[in-house]
Amino acid sequence: MRATSTTPLGLADAYGRVATDLRVSLTDRCNLRCTYCMPEEGLDWLAKPELLTDDEVVRLVSVAVTHLGVNEIRFTGGEPLLRRGLVDIVARTTQLDPRPQVSLTTNGIGLARQAQALRDAGMDRVNVSLDTIRQDTFQQLTHRDRLKDVIAGLEAAHQAGLTPVKVNAVLMRGVNDGEAGELLQFCLDRGYELRFIEQMPLDAQHGWSRDTMITADEILEMLGEPFGLEPTDAETRGSAPAESFTVRGGPQTVGIIASVTRPFCGDCDRVRLTADGQVRDCLFARKESDLRTALRAGADDEELAARWRRAMAGKLPGHGIADPAFLQPVRPMSAIGG
Ligand code: SAM
Repeated sequence: MRATSTTPLGLADAYGRVATDLRVSLTDRCNLRCTYCMPEEGLDWLAKPELLTDDEVVRLVSVAVTHLGVNEIRFTGGEPLLRRGLVDIVARTTQLDPRPQVSLTTNGIGLARQAQALRDAGMDRVNVSLDTIRQDTFQQLTHRDRLKDVIAGLEAAHQAGLTPVKVNAVLMRGVNDGEAGELLQFCLDRGYELRFIEQMPLDAQHGWSRDTMITADEILEMLGEPFGLEPTDAETRGSAPAESFTVRGGPQTVGIIASVTRPFCGDCDRVRLTADGQVRDCLFARKESDLRTALRAGADDEELAARWRRAMAGKLPGHGIADPAFLQPVRPMSAIGG
């Protein structure tokens, strides 16, 4: 990629990319303990005074939407359904002008109770993480017996019109990789869009290894023939992280987010805000830019926007996982916002 010298209007970086998709983490806490994400005993959670308040979240989201050209907001975490003020935050976000697309990435626990309220608040759609439909595998992977709650959450989201309901799955060798086909069939039968995410080096335990992760090629090898997968038109992918494949001629599709083996950094349009008000220009960034201090010191919207632009200007051309000098970020995925 060649660095360009154009004047940034929105959240532009030196390589010509412009971030318009903001992932906002609402908490670093989670009620599952997925083995690829965090240890069974949990982590040292952020203390309450460090967390942005609901008003502070809405203020920064508003700066992003009205001053920086962000047109898509995804609330995430940790587990965003654990955030008490979620419905109100969503309602205030969907009232912004211009109105951004608003979605949620969740593990689905408690979604059955909140799906309609989220829809009524204007939420457009949800991504629900589900790696298996077998109770014993779910327990093994998440250290919790909550599969039924997740399935109920998916159904409620679908019924409430939070569609398309997307399902995110991570395959772990020797754990759930033999269940990829049944998970795909489960999603196809219910009209959910399944996307497999390659396991990334973002776990708190630093247990990731390139040698054991399940790759996009392996997933295609497993599912390609039985499900008649064909790549959809690459032209339509744009900045979407998932490569999309039609199932048996379509119209249903399955996606693969191959962040490790087929990185798509050149088309990245994402930026992240952590629950404690730090801007991250990449999941794998080792640097963050503090907006919370300026916000609490009384900075106006223009100053916050200027700080945010500066934070993005230094975004690196790629995540560098393949680089022998790659170092995992200090924060794990749960504290960044997936
Ligand atoms: N708790 C919510 C959930 O479960 O969707 C949102 C946060 S979670 C960190 C967001 C997504 O990141 C989930 O789909 C999860 O499976 C994925 N994830 C977590 N750790 C990962 C890792 N090491 N590699 C790839 N995906 C990961």
